[in-house]
Amino acid sequence: ASYCASTAVYLSAHQSIGVPQPLIVFGTEEQKQKFLPRFATGSISAFALTEPDVGSDPAKMTTKAEPTPDGKHFIINGEKLWCTNGIRADIMVVMAQTPAKIVHGKPRQQITAFIVERSMGGVENVHRCEFMGLKGIQNGLLRFNNVKVPVENIIGGEGQGLKIALTTLNTGRLTMPAAVTGASKYCLQSVIEWSNERVQWGSKIGKHEAVASKIAAMTSTIFAMESVSEIASVMADKKETDIRLEAAMAKLATTEASWKIVDGAVQIRGGRGYETARSLKARGEKPWAVERVMRDARINTIIEGTSQIMRLFIAREAMDMHVRNIMSVIGPRVSFFKRIGNFFKAFAFYAVWYPKQYLPGSTVPEGVPSRLMTHFKFIGCNAKKLARHLFHAMMIYQTNLEGKQHLLAKLVNVGTDLFSMSCALSRAVYLHQQNPSDDGALELADLFCLQARGRIRKQFSGLFFNRDKFVYKVAQNALEGKYRWLESDIF
Ligand SMILES: Cc1cc2nc3c(=O)[nH]c(=O)nc-3n(C[C@H](O)[C@H](O)[C@H](O)COP(=O)(O)OP(=O)(O)OC[C@H]3O[C@@H](n4cnc5c(N)ncnc54)[C@H](O)[C@@H]3O)c2cc1C
Repeated sequence: ASYCASTAVYLSAHQSIGVPQPLIVFGTEEQKQKFLPRFATGSISAFALTEPDVGSDPAKMTTKAEPTPDGKHFIINGEKLWCTNGIRADIMVVMAQTPAKIVHGKPRQQITAFIVERSMGGVENVHRCEFMGLKGIQNGLLRFNNVKVPVENIIGGEGQGLKIALTTLNTGRLTMPAAVTGASKYCLQSVIEWSNERVQWGSKIGKHEAVASKIAAMTSTIFAMESVSEIASVMADKKETDIRLEAAMAKLATTEASWKIVDGAVQIRGGRGYETARSLKARGEKPWAVERVMRDARINTIIEGTSQIMRLFIAREAMDMHVRNIMSVIGPRVSFFKRIGNFFKAFAFYAVWYPKQYLPGSTVPEGVPSRLMTHFKFIGCNAKKLARHLFHAMMIYQTNLEGKQHLLAKLVNVGTDLFSMSCALSRAVYLHQQNPSDDGALELADLFCLQARGRIRKQFSGLFFNRDKFVYKVAQNALEGKYRWLESDIF
Protein backbone atom coordinates (compact mmCIF):
# COMPACT_ATOMS: atom_id res chain seq x y z
CA ALA A 1 0.00 0.00 0.00
CA SER A 2 2.92 2.36 0.60
CA TYR A 3 3.92 1.87 -3.03
CA CYS A 4 0.58 1.56 -4.82
CA ALA A 5 -2.85 2.04 -3.25
CA SER A 6 -4.60 0.69 -6.36
CA THR A 7 -2.90 -2.68 -5.87
CA ALA A 8 -3.91 -2.68 -2.20
CA VAL A 9 -7.55 -1.92 -3.06
CA TYR A 10 -7.56 -4.50 -5.86
CA LEU A 11 -6.23 -7.18 -3.49
CA SER A 12 -8.52 -6.12 -0.67
CA ALA A 13 -11.64 -6.27 -2.85
CA HIS A 14 -10.56 -9.63 -4.26
CA GLN A 15 -9.49 -11.29 -1.05
CA SER A 16 -10.95 -9.55 1.99
CA ILE A 17 -14.47 -8.74 0.78
CA GLY A 18 -14.69 -10.69 -2.50
CA VAL A 19 -15.62 -14.37 -2.74
CA PRO A 20 -12.78 -15.99 -0.68
CA GLN A 21 -13.52 -14.40 2.71
CA PRO A 22 -17.31 -14.99 2.94
CA LEU A 23 -16.76 -18.47 1.55
CA ILE A 24 -14.17 -19.31 4.21
CA VAL A 25 -16.45 -18.05 6.98
CA PHE A 26 -19.91 -19.07 5.75
CA GLY A 27 -19.42 -21.44 2.79
CA THR A 28 -20.29 -25.14 2.79
CA GLU A 29 -17.54 -27.71 2.33
CA GLU A 30 -18.74 -28.32 -1.27
CA GLN A 31 -18.61 -24.61 -2.07
CA LYS A 32 -15.09 -24.31 -0.63
CA GLN A 33 -13.90 -27.33 -2.63
CA LYS A 34 -15.47 -25.98 -5.79
CA PHE A 35 -14.47 -22.33 -5.70
CA LEU A 36 -11.45 -21.73 -3.45
CA PRO A 37 -8.87 -23.58 -5.62
CA ARG A 38 -9.75 -21.26 -8.50
CA PHE A 39 -8.29 -18.31 -6.62
CA ALA A 40 -4.92 -20.05 -6.64
CA THR A 41 -5.02 -20.20 -10.43
CA GLY A 42 -5.82 -16.61 -11.31
CA SER A 43 -9.54 -16.08 -10.78
CA ILE A 44 -10.40 -12.50 -9.82
CA SER A 45 -13.29 -11.82 -7.49
CA ALA A 46 -15.40 -8.83 -6.45
CA PHE A 47 -18.04 -7.82 -3.93
CA ALA A 48 -21.23 -6.22 -5.26
CA LEU A 49 -23.36 -4.53 -2.62
CA THR A 50 -23.67 -0.82 -3.45
CA GLU A 51 -26.33 0.35 -5.92
CA PRO A 52 -26.96 3.73 -7.56
CA ASP A 53 -29.64 4.58 -4.95
CA VAL A 54 -28.28 2.51 -2.08
CA GLY A 55 -24.97 3.23 -0.36
CA SER A 56 -24.69 3.33 3.41
CA ASP A 57 -28.11 1.74 3.91
CA PRO A 58 -27.84 -1.56 2.03
CA ALA A 59 -31.08 -2.93 3.49
CA LYS A 60 -32.92 -0.79 0.90
CA MET A 61 -31.31 -2.51 -2.09
CA THR A 62 -33.43 -3.12 -5.18
CA THR A 63 -31.47 -5.86 -6.99
CA LYS A 64 -33.85 -8.81 -6.97
CA ALA A 65 -33.35 -12.56 -7.09
CA GLU A 66 -36.53 -14.52 -7.94
CA PRO A 67 -36.66 -18.30 -7.54
CA THR A 68 -37.43 -20.35 -10.68
CA PRO A 69 -40.63 -22.47 -10.58
CA ASP A 70 -38.59 -25.69 -10.12
CA GLY A 71 -36.82 -24.09 -7.11
CA LYS A 72 -33.39 -24.99 -8.47
CA HIS A 73 -32.24 -21.52 -9.49
CA PHE A 74 -32.64 -17.81 -8.77
CA ILE A 75 -32.85 -15.19 -11.50
CA ILE A 76 -30.97 -12.00 -10.60
CA ASN A 77 -31.87 -8.59 -12.04
CA GLY A 78 -30.50 -5.22 -10.99
CA GLU A 79 -27.54 -2.85 -11.01
CA LYS A 80 -24.48 -2.66 -8.78
CA LEU A 81 -22.36 0.48 -8.68
CA TRP A 82 -18.64 1.03 -7.97
CA CYS A 83 -17.89 -2.66 -7.91
CA THR A 84 -14.10 -2.86 -7.49
CA ASN A 85 -12.60 -5.49 -9.85
CA GLY A 86 -16.16 -5.89 -11.18
CA ILE A 87 -15.13 -5.07 -14.75
CA ARG A 88 -12.71 -8.00 -14.83
CA ALA A 89 -13.95 -10.37 -12.15
CA ASP A 90 -14.99 -13.82 -13.35
CA ILE A 91 -16.62 -14.61 -10.01
CA MET A 92 -18.28 -12.31 -7.48
CA VAL A 93 -20.46 -12.08 -4.39
CA VAL A 94 -23.72 -10.37 -5.31
CA MET A 95 -26.20 -9.23 -2.68
CA ALA A 96 -29.82 -9.35 -3.78
CA GLN A 97 -33.32 -9.28 -2.34
CA THR A 98 -35.02 -12.65 -2.30
CA PRO A 99 -38.78 -13.06 -1.58
CA ALA A 100 -39.82 -11.84 1.87
CA LYS A 101 -40.48 -14.36 4.66
CA ILE A 102 -43.40 -14.05 7.06
CA VAL A 103 -42.11 -13.54 10.61
CA HIS A 104 -44.57 -12.86 13.49
CA GLY A 105 -47.32 -12.45 10.88
CA LYS A 106 -45.43 -9.71 8.98
CA PRO A 107 -43.32 -9.96 5.80
CA ARG A 108 -39.60 -9.68 6.60
CA GLN A 109 -37.23 -8.57 3.88
CA GLN A 110 -34.58 -11.11 2.88
CA ILE A 111 -31.19 -10.19 1.52
CA THR A 112 -29.20 -13.09 0.19
CA ALA A 113 -25.56 -13.48 -0.88
CA PHE A 114 -24.99 -15.28 -4.19
CA ILE A 115 -21.81 -16.46 -5.86
CA VAL A 116 -22.24 -15.26 -9.43
CA GLU A 117 -19.96 -16.40 -12.23
CA ARG A 118 -19.59 -14.29 -15.33
CA SER A 119 -19.81 -17.47 -17.40
CA MET A 120 -23.47 -17.80 -16.31
CA GLY A 121 -24.26 -15.05 -18.81
CA GLY A 122 -26.19 -11.82 -18.33
CA VAL A 123 -23.50 -9.89 -16.40
CA GLU A 124 -22.99 -6.62 -18.27
CA ASN A 125 -20.18 -4.10 -17.74
CA VAL A 126 -22.20 -0.90 -18.20
CA HIS A 127 -19.47 1.63 -17.38
CA ARG A 128 -15.91 1.69 -16.08
CA CYS A 129 -15.84 4.32 -13.34
CA GLU A 130 -13.02 6.86 -13.11
CA PHE A 131 -12.02 8.50 -9.86
CA MET A 132 -9.97 11.28 -8.33
CA GLY A 133 -7.36 8.67 -7.34
CA LEU A 134 -6.92 4.89 -7.50
CA LYS A 135 -6.41 5.21 -11.25
CA GLY A 136 -5.24 1.59 -11.43
CA ILE A 137 -8.41 -0.10 -10.18
CA GLN A 138 -10.96 -1.66 -12.52
CA ASN A 139 -14.18 -0.54 -10.95
CA GLY A 140 -17.53 -0.34 -12.63
CA LEU A 141 -21.27 -0.17 -12.86
CA LEU A 142 -22.54 -3.69 -13.51
CA ARG A 143 -25.97 -4.74 -14.72
CA PHE A 144 -27.39 -8.18 -14.00
CA ASN A 145 -29.82 -9.18 -16.75
CA ASN A 146 -31.71 -12.37 -15.86
CA VAL A 147 -28.59 -14.02 -14.46
CA LYS A 148 -29.50 -17.63 -13.64
CA VAL A 149 -27.75 -18.77 -10.47
CA PRO A 150 -28.10 -22.28 -8.97
CA VAL A 151 -29.36 -22.40 -5.35
CA GLU A 152 -26.11 -24.18 -4.42
CA ASN A 153 -24.41 -20.82 -4.98
CA ILE A 154 -26.16 -19.16 -2.05
CA ILE A 155 -23.69 -18.40 0.74
CA GLY A 156 -24.87 -19.02 4.30
CA GLY A 157 -28.54 -19.62 3.44
CA GLU A 158 -31.38 -17.42 2.23
CA GLY A 159 -31.77 -14.13 4.11
CA GLN A 160 -28.24 -14.21 5.53
CA GLY A 161 -26.84 -11.63 3.08
CA LEU A 162 -26.66 -8.62 5.37
CA LYS A 163 -25.12 -10.66 8.16
CA ILE A 164 -22.55 -11.99 5.70
CA ALA A 165 -21.84 -8.51 4.34
CA LEU A 166 -21.35 -7.10 7.83
CA THR A 167 -19.24 -10.02 9.05
CA THR A 168 -17.13 -9.96 5.90
CA LEU A 169 -16.60 -6.25 6.32
CA ASN A 170 -15.43 -6.77 9.92
CA THR A 171 -12.35 -8.62 8.75
CA GLY A 172 -12.23 -6.77 5.44
CA ARG A 173 -11.98 -3.50 7.31
CA LEU A 174 -8.71 -4.61 8.88
CA THR A 175 -7.00 -4.38 5.49
CA MET A 176 -7.63 -0.67 5.63
CA PRO A 177 -5.63 0.16 8.81
CA ALA A 178 -2.64 -1.78 7.44
CA ALA A 179 -2.91 -0.12 4.04
CA VAL A 180 -3.29 3.44 5.31
CA THR A 181 -0.42 2.94 7.76
CA GLY A 182 1.77 1.94 4.82
CA ALA A 183 0.76 5.02 2.83
CA SER A 184 1.35 7.23 5.88
CA LYS A 185 4.85 5.79 6.30
CA TYR A 186 5.60 6.72 2.71
CA CYS A 187 4.49 10.28 3.48
CA LEU A 188 6.67 10.37 6.59
CA GLN A 189 9.71 9.19 4.61
CA SER A 190 9.19 11.92 2.04
CA VAL A 191 8.73 14.54 4.74
CA ILE A 192 11.80 13.53 6.74
CA GLU A 193 13.99 13.57 3.67
CA TRP A 194 12.65 16.92 2.50
CA SER A 195 12.73 18.57 5.93
CA ASN A 196 16.40 17.62 6.34
CA GLU A 197 17.27 18.89 2.89
CA ARG A 198 15.23 22.00 2.22
CA VAL A 199 16.64 25.23 3.62
CA GLN A 200 14.41 28.31 3.94
CA TRP A 201 14.92 31.46 6.01
CA GLY A 202 18.42 30.29 6.89
CA SER A 203 17.65 26.87 8.31
CA LYS A 204 16.40 23.46 7.34
CA ILE A 205 12.61 23.53 7.35
CA GLY A 206 12.54 20.66 9.87
CA LYS A 207 14.12 23.06 12.38
CA HIS A 208 11.21 25.51 12.14
CA GLU A 209 8.86 24.79 15.01
CA ALA A 210 5.70 24.81 12.91
CA VAL A 211 7.08 22.08 10.65
CA ALA A 212 8.71 20.16 13.50
CA SER A 213 5.44 19.90 15.42
CA LYS A 214 3.75 18.39 12.36
CA ILE A 215 6.57 15.86 11.97
CA ALA A 216 6.32 14.86 15.64
CA ALA A 217 2.55 14.41 15.39
CA MET A 218 2.89 12.39 12.17
CA THR A 219 5.54 10.09 13.65
CA SER A 220 3.73 9.38 16.90
CA THR A 221 0.39 8.95 15.12
CA ILE A 222 1.88 6.44 12.68
CA PHE A 223 3.24 4.50 15.65
CA ALA A 224 -0.27 4.43 17.15
CA MET A 225 -1.86 3.51 13.80
CA GLU A 226 0.49 0.58 13.35
CA SER A 227 -0.19 -0.53 16.93
CA VAL A 228 -3.95 -0.41 16.35
CA SER A 229 -3.62 -2.30 13.08
CA GLU A 230 -1.38 -5.01 14.55
CA ILE A 231 -3.38 -5.53 17.73
CA ALA A 232 -6.74 -5.64 15.93
CA SER A 233 -5.30 -8.10 13.39
CA VAL A 234 -3.88 -10.35 16.11
CA MET A 235 -7.32 -10.35 17.76
CA ALA A 236 -8.91 -11.31 14.44
CA ASP A 237 -6.39 -14.11 13.87
CA LYS A 238 -6.90 -15.52 17.37
CA LYS A 239 -10.66 -15.76 16.74
CA GLU A 240 -11.29 -15.73 20.49
CA THR A 241 -13.29 -12.52 20.71
CA ASP A 242 -15.88 -10.72 18.66
CA ILE A 243 -13.85 -7.95 17.02
CA ARG A 244 -16.71 -5.96 15.46
CA LEU A 245 -16.05 -2.96 17.66
CA GLU A 246 -12.26 -3.08 17.45
CA ALA A 247 -12.29 -3.50 13.65
CA ALA A 248 -14.65 -0.56 13.24
CA MET A 249 -12.62 1.63 15.60
CA ALA A 250 -9.41 0.62 13.84
CA LYS A 251 -10.89 1.57 10.46
CA LEU A 252 -12.26 4.87 11.74
CA ALA A 253 -9.17 5.92 13.71
CA THR A 254 -6.54 5.03 11.13
CA THR A 255 -8.29 6.34 8.02
CA GLU A 256 -9.09 9.67 9.69
CA ALA A 257 -5.53 9.95 11.06
CA SER A 258 -3.90 9.02 7.77
CA TRP A 259 -5.83 11.72 5.91
CA LYS A 260 -4.34 14.31 8.29
CA ILE A 261 -0.88 12.80 7.78
CA VAL A 262 -1.16 12.95 4.00
CA ASP A 263 -2.39 16.53 4.25
CA GLY A 264 0.58 17.36 6.51
CA ALA A 265 3.00 15.76 4.04
CA VAL A 266 1.63 17.82 1.14
CA GLN A 267 1.92 20.96 3.29
CA ILE A 268 5.51 20.28 4.35
CA ARG A 269 6.60 19.49 0.80
CA GLY A 270 5.04 22.81 -0.20
CA GLY A 271 4.63 23.28 -3.97
CA ARG A 272 6.35 19.94 -4.52
CA GLY A 273 3.63 18.27 -2.48
CA TYR A 274 1.09 19.49 -5.03
CA GLU A 275 3.20 18.58 -8.08
CA THR A 276 2.85 15.16 -9.69
CA ALA A 277 5.70 12.64 -9.48
CA ARG A 278 5.96 12.64 -13.27
CA SER A 279 6.40 16.40 -13.40
CA LEU A 280 8.97 16.34 -10.58
CA LYS A 281 10.92 13.66 -12.42
CA ALA A 282 10.79 15.57 -15.70
CA ARG A 283 12.37 18.56 -13.92
CA GLY A 284 15.12 16.32 -12.54
CA GLU A 285 13.81 16.13 -8.97
CA LYS A 286 13.13 13.07 -6.87
CA PRO A 287 9.64 11.85 -7.85
CA TRP A 288 7.94 11.59 -4.46
CA ALA A 289 4.32 10.74 -5.31
CA VAL A 290 2.72 12.57 -2.37
CA GLU A 291 0.21 14.24 -4.69
CA ARG A 292 -0.97 10.81 -5.86
CA VAL A 293 -1.05 9.44 -2.31
CA MET A 294 -3.39 12.29 -1.38
CA ARG A 295 -5.76 11.56 -4.28
CA ASP A 296 -5.66 7.84 -3.50
CA ALA A 297 -6.17 8.37 0.23
CA ARG A 298 -9.31 10.48 -0.02
CA ILE A 299 -11.53 7.45 -0.53
CA ASN A 300 -10.46 5.70 2.67
CA THR A 301 -12.91 7.52 4.93
CA ILE A 302 -15.71 6.63 2.48
CA ILE A 303 -15.34 3.00 1.38
CA GLU A 304 -16.11 0.02 3.58
CA GLY A 305 -18.26 2.23 5.80
CA THR A 306 -18.00 6.03 5.81
CA SER A 307 -16.62 7.62 8.98
CA GLN A 308 -20.11 8.86 9.86
CA ILE A 309 -21.58 5.38 9.49
CA MET A 310 -18.67 3.86 11.41
CA ARG A 311 -19.43 6.20 14.32
CA LEU A 312 -23.10 5.20 14.32
CA PHE A 313 -22.14 1.53 14.11
CA ILE A 314 -19.66 1.85 17.00
CA ALA A 315 -22.20 3.78 19.09
CA ARG A 316 -24.82 1.09 18.49
CA GLU A 317 -22.41 -1.65 19.48
CA ALA A 318 -21.37 0.26 22.60
CA MET A 319 -25.00 0.85 23.62
CA ASP A 320 -26.09 -2.69 22.87
CA MET A 321 -26.11 -3.88 26.48
CA HIS A 322 -28.15 -0.87 27.69
CA VAL A 323 -30.54 -1.06 24.74
CA ARG A 324 -31.28 -4.71 25.49
CA ASN A 325 -31.89 -3.91 29.16
CA ILE A 326 -34.13 -0.95 28.40
CA MET A 327 -36.07 -2.71 25.64
CA SER A 328 -36.72 -5.63 27.96
CA VAL A 329 -38.69 -3.13 30.06
CA ILE A 330 -40.24 -0.73 27.55
CA GLY A 331 -40.26 -2.88 24.38
CA PRO A 332 -43.69 -3.07 22.65
CA ARG A 333 -43.85 -6.89 22.58
CA VAL A 334 -43.07 -7.41 26.28
CA SER A 335 -46.03 -8.57 28.38
CA PHE A 336 -47.00 -6.61 31.53
CA PHE A 337 -45.73 -9.24 34.00
CA LYS A 338 -42.49 -9.79 32.07
CA ARG A 339 -42.02 -6.03 32.00
CA ILE A 340 -42.25 -5.83 35.81
CA GLY A 341 -39.83 -8.75 36.22
CA ASN A 342 -37.36 -7.24 33.74
CA PHE A 343 -37.60 -3.87 35.48
CA PHE A 344 -36.44 -5.38 38.78
CA LYS A 345 -33.72 -7.35 37.01
CA ALA A 346 -32.44 -4.21 35.28
CA PHE A 347 -32.68 -2.26 38.55
CA ALA A 348 -30.58 -4.89 40.35
CA PHE A 349 -28.04 -4.84 37.54
CA TYR A 350 -27.67 -1.04 37.46
CA ALA A 351 -27.59 -0.79 41.27
CA VAL A 352 -24.23 -2.57 41.04
CA TRP A 353 -23.01 -1.46 37.61
CA TYR A 354 -23.60 2.28 37.94
CA PRO A 355 -21.73 2.98 41.23
CA LYS A 356 -18.83 0.90 39.87
CA GLN A 357 -18.35 3.48 37.13
CA TYR A 358 -17.40 6.00 39.83
CA LEU A 359 -14.73 3.78 41.41
CA PRO A 360 -11.09 4.43 40.49
CA GLY A 361 -9.88 2.95 37.18
CA SER A 362 -8.11 -0.40 36.94
CA THR A 363 -4.59 -0.81 38.32
CA VAL A 364 -1.60 -0.23 36.07
CA PRO A 365 -0.06 -3.51 34.86
CA GLU A 366 3.37 -4.43 36.20
CA GLY A 367 6.49 -3.48 34.28
CA VAL A 368 5.08 -0.26 32.81
CA PRO A 369 7.81 2.42 32.58
CA SER A 370 7.06 5.38 34.83
CA ARG A 371 6.64 7.89 31.98
CA LEU A 372 3.66 5.90 30.67
CA MET A 373 1.95 5.22 34.03
CA THR A 374 -0.17 8.34 33.96
CA HIS A 375 -1.58 7.37 30.54
CA PHE A 376 -2.66 3.94 31.78
CA LYS A 377 -4.41 5.62 34.72
CA PHE A 378 -6.03 8.13 32.38
CA ILE A 379 -7.45 5.30 30.25
CA GLY A 380 -8.87 3.51 33.30
CA CYS A 381 -10.61 6.64 34.63
CA ASN A 382 -11.84 7.89 31.30
CA ALA A 383 -13.19 4.54 30.14
CA LYS A 384 -15.47 4.69 33.18
CA LYS A 385 -16.32 8.31 32.55
CA LEU A 386 -17.26 7.35 29.00
CA ALA A 387 -19.47 4.51 30.25
CA ARG A 388 -21.21 6.93 32.66
CA HIS A 389 -21.79 9.58 30.00
CA LEU A 390 -23.11 7.04 27.53
CA PHE A 391 -25.52 5.81 30.19
CA HIS A 392 -26.60 9.37 31.07
CA ALA A 393 -27.15 10.14 27.39
CA MET A 394 -29.36 7.06 27.08
CA MET A 395 -31.37 8.09 30.12
CA ILE A 396 -31.82 11.65 28.84
CA TYR A 397 -32.60 10.95 25.19
CA GLN A 398 -33.83 7.34 25.36
CA THR A 399 -35.09 6.22 21.94
CA ASN A 400 -34.15 9.62 20.42
CA LEU A 401 -30.47 9.05 21.13
CA GLU A 402 -29.85 7.53 17.68
CA GLY A 403 -30.68 10.91 16.18
CA LYS A 404 -28.20 12.76 18.42
CA GLN A 405 -25.33 12.15 16.03
CA HIS A 406 -23.11 14.97 17.32
CA LEU A 407 -23.29 13.66 20.85
CA LEU A 408 -22.72 10.07 19.77
CA ALA A 409 -19.81 11.10 17.54
CA LYS A 410 -18.10 12.79 20.49
CA LEU A 411 -18.55 9.70 22.66
CA VAL A 412 -17.27 7.46 19.87
CA ASN A 413 -14.29 9.74 19.27
CA VAL A 414 -13.40 9.42 22.96
CA GLY A 415 -13.74 5.62 22.84
CA THR A 416 -11.68 5.39 19.67
CA ASP A 417 -8.90 7.54 21.09
CA LEU A 418 -8.86 5.50 24.31
CA PHE A 419 -8.58 2.34 22.20
CA SER A 420 -5.73 3.81 20.12
CA MET A 421 -3.95 4.90 23.32
CA SER A 422 -4.23 1.39 24.78
CA CYS A 423 -2.81 -0.15 21.60
CA ALA A 424 0.06 2.33 21.39
CA LEU A 425 0.93 1.86 25.07
CA SER A 426 0.78 -1.95 24.95
CA ARG A 427 3.02 -2.08 21.91
CA ALA A 428 5.45 0.49 23.31
CA VAL A 429 5.82 -1.47 26.55
CA TYR A 430 6.34 -4.68 24.57
CA LEU A 431 8.95 -3.13 22.25
CA HIS A 432 10.76 -1.55 25.19
CA GLN A 433 10.88 -4.90 26.97
CA GLN A 434 12.44 -6.43 23.85
CA ASN A 435 15.07 -3.71 23.65
CA PRO A 436 15.38 -1.74 26.91
CA SER A 437 18.21 0.47 25.62
CA ASP A 438 15.91 2.02 22.98
CA ASP A 439 13.25 4.34 24.38
CA GLY A 440 11.95 5.42 20.94
CA ALA A 441 8.67 3.54 21.20
CA LEU A 442 8.05 4.93 24.70
CA GLU A 443 8.60 8.46 23.43
CA LEU A 444 6.21 8.00 20.51
CA ALA A 445 3.50 6.40 22.66
CA ASP A 446 3.96 9.16 25.24
CA LEU A 447 3.48 11.92 22.69
CA PHE A 448 0.53 10.19 21.01
CA CYS A 449 -1.18 9.76 24.39
CA LEU A 450 -0.57 13.38 25.41
CA GLN A 451 -2.18 14.57 22.19
CA ALA A 452 -5.04 12.08 22.43
CA ARG A 453 -5.74 13.20 25.99
CA GLY A 454 -6.14 16.77 24.77
CA ARG A 455 -8.67 15.61 22.17
CA ILE A 456 -10.55 13.50 24.71
CA ARG A 457 -10.86 16.39 27.18
CA LYS A 458 -12.18 18.60 24.40
CA GLN A 459 -14.80 16.03 23.35
CA PHE A 460 -15.97 15.54 26.95
CA SER A 461 -16.19 19.27 27.61
CA GLY A 462 -18.61 19.80 24.72
CA LEU A 463 -20.76 16.77 25.38
CA PHE A 464 -23.93 18.20 26.90
CA PHE A 465 -23.29 21.97 26.71
CA ASN A 466 -22.57 22.90 23.14
CA ARG A 467 -23.82 24.61 19.99
CA ASP A 468 -25.07 21.43 18.33
CA LYS A 469 -28.67 22.69 17.99
CA PHE A 470 -27.59 25.98 16.46
CA VAL A 471 -25.20 24.20 14.08
CA TYR A 472 -28.04 21.94 12.94
CA LYS A 473 -30.35 24.93 12.47
CA VAL A 474 -27.82 26.76 10.27
CA ALA A 475 -27.40 23.62 8.14
CA GLN A 476 -31.17 23.30 7.67
CA ASN A 477 -31.42 27.00 6.82
CA ALA A 478 -28.69 26.54 4.21
CA LEU A 479 -30.53 23.55 2.75
CA GLU A 480 -33.76 25.54 2.60
CA GLY A 481 -32.07 28.37 0.71
CA LYS A 482 -31.91 31.07 3.41
CA TYR A 483 -28.33 31.97 2.48
CA ARG A 484 -28.70 31.57 -1.28
CA TRP A 485 -27.21 35.07 -1.73
CA LEU A 486 -23.91 33.57 -0.58
CA GLU A 487 -23.79 31.41 -3.71
CA SER A 488 -25.18 33.99 -6.11
CA ASP A 489 -21.97 35.64 -7.36
CA ILE A 490 -20.19 32.60 -8.82
CA PHE A 491 -20.28 31.17 -12.34
C1 LIG B 1 -13.40 3.71 -5.35
C2 LIG B 1 -14.60 3.03 -4.78
C3 LIG B 1 -14.60 1.66 -4.59
C4 LIG B 1 -15.73 1.01 -4.10
N1 LIG B 1 -15.76 -0.37 -4.04
C5 LIG B 1 -16.93 -1.00 -3.73
C6 LIG B 1 -17.05 -2.42 -3.86
O1 LIG B 1 -16.11 -3.12 -4.24
N2 LIG B 1 -18.26 -2.98 -3.58
C7 LIG B 1 -19.33 -2.25 -3.17
O2 LIG B 1 -20.39 -2.82 -2.93
N3 LIG B 1 -19.24 -0.90 -3.02
C8 LIG B 1 -18.08 -0.26 -3.31
N4 LIG B 1 -17.98 1.12 -3.21
C9 LIG B 1 -19.10 1.87 -2.65
C10 LIG B 1 -18.79 2.43 -1.27
O3 LIG B 1 -18.74 1.40 -0.33
C11 LIG B 1 -19.85 3.50 -0.99
O4 LIG B 1 -19.46 4.65 -1.69
C12 LIG B 1 -20.02 3.80 0.48
O5 LIG B 1 -20.62 2.72 1.12
C13 LIG B 1 -20.88 5.03 0.71
O6 LIG B 1 -22.06 4.97 -0.02
P1 LIG B 1 -22.51 6.23 -0.92
O7 LIG B 1 -21.33 6.69 -1.68
O8 LIG B 1 -23.72 5.85 -1.67
O9 LIG B 1 -22.84 7.36 0.14
P2 LIG B 1 -24.22 7.64 0.88
O10 LIG B 1 -24.63 6.45 1.65
O11 LIG B 1 -25.19 8.22 -0.06
O12 LIG B 1 -23.75 8.76 1.91
C14 LIG B 1 -23.47 10.11 1.50
C15 LIG B 1 -22.99 10.87 2.73
O13 LIG B 1 -24.01 10.86 3.73
C16 LIG B 1 -23.52 10.31 4.95
N5 LIG B 1 -24.58 9.52 5.56
C17 LIG B 1 -25.36 8.58 4.99
N6 LIG B 1 -26.22 8.07 5.88
C18 LIG B 1 -25.98 8.70 7.05
C19 LIG B 1 -26.55 8.62 8.35
N7 LIG B 1 -27.53 7.77 8.66
N8 LIG B 1 -26.06 9.43 9.31
C20 LIG B 1 -25.04 10.28 9.05
N9 LIG B 1 -24.47 10.41 7.84
C21 LIG B 1 -24.93 9.63 6.86
C22 LIG B 1 -22.33 9.46 4.54
O14 LIG B 1 -21.41 9.32 5.60
C23 LIG B 1 -21.76 10.26 3.38
O15 LIG B 1 -20.93 11.26 3.89
C24 LIG B 1 -16.86 1.77 -3.71
C25 LIG B 1 -16.85 3.16 -3.87
C26 LIG B 1 -15.76 3.79 -4.42
C27 LIG B 1 -15.82 5.27 -4.65
